[in-house]
Amino acid sequence: MTVGILALQGNFSKHLEKLHALDCTALLVKYPEQLQEVDGLVLPGGESTCITLLMEKTGFHSAISEFAKEKPVFGTCAGLILMASEPNDERVNSLHLLDISVNRNGYGRQVHSGIHEIEALVNGRASTHQAMFIRAPKITKTGNNVSVLGKLNNDPVLVQQGHHLAACFHPEMSVDISIYSHFLEMISSKNLAHAV
Ligand code: GLN
Repeated sequence: MTVGILALQGNFSKHLEKLHALDCTALLVKYPEQLQEVDGLVLPGGESTCITLLMEKTGFHSAISEFAKEKPVFGTCAGLILMASEPNDERVNSLHLLDISVNRNGYGRQVHSGIHEIEALVNGRASTHQAMFIRAPKITKTGNNVSVLGKLNNDPVLVQQGHHLAACFHPEMSVDISIYSHFLEMISSKNLAHAV
């Protein structure tokens, strides 16, 4: 199994380290053609408006939309905004992969960044995680098909819909790598579903 990390802008290298720690083959995806080599894709944090412009310019927008029909995508922070059906900012051209509404920077600006303990259901186990929030989006609405896997003060911060996963926070900044193993599990079960 190979996992790609969209490497246009933002915090992509740290995701590579986490996936390597799980002995997973991972690669930085800089060209749309590389999507053919990967079984799942991480959309990193960064700036969703900037990533929008780069995705449109490079052909990634349509390439990822096509990829995501079959393959799992994991968006973190700006990546989550880019997956939301309602990003609520006209400068963000979302991929519409998750039925959620978001408020960009809903957890405050850079100075309000911090680590919060969240309650989550990861790999089927209830657990607490130290999650890093950096100018994080707040999820204000979730559709019926969206499972809320993680909460902070009763607000959803980790969500899954079908074969897509998204976090408001930055799992690449934590020591804990269980959220990545959850994503790898989603990819393998998708591959298994194809095999039968
Ligand atoms: N605030 C950024 C945005 O709206 C996301 C921040 C992040 O990814 N850490 O795109």
